[in-house]
Amino acid sequence: MTNRSRTGIVSVTMIEKMEVELLDVDKLIEEFESVTKNAENVQRDTLKKILEENGCAEYLQNLGLNGRTDPESFKACVPLVTHNDLEPYIQRIVDGSSSPILTGKPITTISLSSGTTQGKPKFVPFNDELMETTLQIYRTSYAFREREFPIENGKALQFIYSSKQSHTKGGLIAGTATTNVFRNSQFKNAMKAMQSQCCSPDEVIFGPDFHQSLYCHLLCGLIFREEVQFVSSTFSHSIVHAFRTFEQVWEELCADIRGGVLTSRITYPSVRSAMAKLLKPNPELADLIHQKCSGLNNWYGLIPALFPNAKYIYGIMTGSMEPYLKKLRHYAGGLPLLSSDYGSSEGWIGANVNPKVPPESATYVVLPDIGYFEFIPLKENVEEHVQDKVSNSFLSKEPKPVGLTEVKVGEEYEIIITSFGGLYRYRLGDVVKVTGFHNSSPELKFVCRRNLMLTINIDKNTEKDLQLAVEAASKLNAEEKLEVLDFSSHVDLSTDPGHYVIFWEINGEVGDEVLKECCNCLDRSFVDAGYVSSRKVNAIGPLELRVVRKGTFQNILDHYIGLGAALSQFKTPRCVGPRNSEVLRILCDNVVKSYLSTAF
Ligand code: AMP
Repeated sequence: MTNRSRTGIVSVTMIEKMEVELLDVDKLIEEFESVTKNAENVQRDTLKKILEENGCAEYLQNLGLNGRTDPESFKACVPLVTHNDLEPYIQRIVDGSSSPILTGKPITTISLSSGTTQGKPKFVPFNDELMETTLQIYRTSYAFREREFPIENGKALQFIYSSKQSHTKGGLIAGTATTNVFRNSQFKNAMKAMQSQCCSPDEVIFGPDFHQSLYCHLLCGLIFREEVQFVSSTFSHSIVHAFRTFEQVWEELCADIRGGVLTSRITYPSVRSAMAKLLKPNPELADLIHQKCSGLNNWYGLIPALFPNAKYIYGIMTGSMEPYLKKLRHYAGGLPLLSSDYGSSEGWIGANVNPKVPPESATYVVLPDIGYFEFIPLKENVEEHVQDKVSNSFLSKEPKPVGLTEVKVGEEYEIIITSFGGLYRYRLGDVVKVTGFHNSSPELKFVCRRNLMLTINIDKNTEKDLQLAVEAASKLNAEEKLEVLDFSSHVDLSTDPGHYVIFWEINGEVGDEVLKECCNCLDRSFVDAGYVSSRKVNAIGPLELRVVRKGTFQNILDHYIGLGAALSQFKTPRCVGPRNSEVLRILCDNVVKSYLSTAF
């Protein structure tokens, strides 16, 4: 039982085995209010700090800033860049050059972005400053969560996985961003201070095989079921994935608990011995779980049934995670779903400070002291956008970004980051919409990845458009109990004219008639004027719905894990192009049925 003082700090002696003090929630909120009230000045100061710390870096030296740190000089001297532009610099760092290239202090760690949206993982510098901003954003959103949904000192069932950290040929440590964070010495204490200690031992989090780690996470959750205060993962896909797996293995889990012996399919000795310390024969618990599971209707409310003291479910639930919300709500029963924060391997951007808002409406307030942010207005750049789309290089012209406090409510922007990690005016590739201001800092809604697009000629459909189309089509057959487990898309130019292909993995037996209607509905649901007019004159051919075999998207996930991605950061690629030929092959090899639209 926690014994919280008025300030929210709990002393060391008050909690069993807790060596760190809990965070002072009120103070954290006060600090956040103060920086967001003063966002413009804080941005100036943050830029100054970034440029002072890194002014000696070769990249900045070559741009002629000559020690100036004001935003005007910065924008005049430093160009907007993409990852491609920085690759030669990053490659030299990866290869072990110890001179200051992008940052003043040498970079010792490299993050691998998930690469699930781009086709291949990108290398991004990681340093102590980025770690600190990570913890800062975690603390901020924790404070707001704690105010709305206070938790007792307890444990969290966290589906977190660390991919292997390797060494680059230049001797730097390389891992996914989440791996670099989880392995950082500060991470564990920070989690304790936020009452978010993972109930699984490190050997499970850092286990070499994520299937085995997942099984053990579930088992640990069940062992500590009374103590679990919330269920989380970095991206909510991992939570849905975990409970879908639970449906398959729950009886095996019960058997392990009953006998106190871990199933033989967990083969890694380090994982086995760590689990042996936790697993004791407990037939009562096994019976209870068995009874809880047997009493559920199609697994509705599974999470609160298993974890009676869980207060909420937590993870990034917006953007490409939205399609999993329906299933997550099903497992969650009445438990609230809280979307976590907004960021990337390149750096954090905003915190969700309104955790009570449902994920579909979640917004992120930019923290003005974790980076310097600029925004390219998409409305003003529409012409450029269309022209570039035709020339197929949407990044060709120099657009005119605005500052953090200059954005307008209701407008969409592409976000640009200048970080403490050596990225200056870096085009992240995300599109956000400004929905309001928290004090003077904008609240952003994530819209989509800018370059993920279905396009053949003058049509332009983003992953959000695709998601809406899939949502509309899958509603058609709710009575048929059809569930779209996952989906992706592809522009097929091998036909003349080219056409959109949507891949669905579905659950349940669904008749051809229904799927034909789904296919028509998908075709009709892309309401972009370019698409509709092209379809009408057959400049784009009929949309094709291809149903893939059960397990196909698991194969795609395995493919990425094989490339070094971590399950924690996995995002299903929603639009598969030539750069993703292996994923396209997996999808095409597993097609069991296909339908052509007759909607136009
Ligand atoms: P990664 O490549 O693994 O570093 O993933 C970073 C990307 O994930 C971002 O650029 C976004 O596209 C997406 N992302 C991160 N946080 C969120 C969020 N809260 N909502 C929607 N998408 C997000």
